[in-house]
Amino acid sequence: MCPTHLTLPHMKGMNSAIAILTQALRTVPDFPKPGIQFIDITPILQNAQLFRLVINLICERYAKKRIDAVAGIDARGFIFGAAVACQLGVGFIPIRKKGKLPYKTIELSYDLEYGSNTIAIHEDAVLPGQKVALVDDLLATGGTAAAALNLLKQLDADVQESCFFIELSFLKGRELLGDSPCHSIITL
Ligand code: AMP
Repeated sequence: MCPTHLTLPHMKGMNSAIAILTQALRTVPDFPKPGIQFIDITPILQNAQLFRLVINLICERYAKKRIDAVAGIDARGFIFGAAVACQLGVGFIPIRKKGKLPYKTIELSYDLEYGSNTIAIHEDAVLPGQKVALVDDLLATGGTAAAALNLLKQLDADVQESCFFIELSFLKGRELLGDSPCHSIITL
């Protein structure tokens, strides 16, 4: 079901918001490979109220933390990360797939839940000591987020927290992030 016309009932608290968001997710079996249950966030993006709700929930965590920038991971991390940065009034740092950034980069390769990947960041994307929140749509095995954190730390960013809209807790991706603080809006 695509809840494009869904209207939000009166929300009594965070749990009802999380329940509504969870219900709106669509699971697509065997995408992009057999055996993968792909969590499709597009029904949430199509609904302005739900999209705004996600952005507000993420922004609430950082509104008082005086972060300097939000880093988002290619590609769905850009959707949430850029909106969060805009709402917080801070800059946005894209961490992109290899070969997409035009200036000098540092890169890192890692394993995915399906396949492998190399990500890159501009070498001047962050100033040493800047407080950064890392945002992505989903934490699965944690390889992507761990690689992104590694790149940010190589640039001496002070990463305050990694924030995911969805965490697939059974894949234990959090363990790969070590001591680095991590928060998820929805845990499946
Ligand atoms: P991982 O490195 O395994 O934590 O994978 C995280 C990245 O892959 C995120 O940026 C997600 O966009 C994507 N991803 C991995 N598994 C899934 C899944 N089951 N459903 C949707 N996206 C996924």
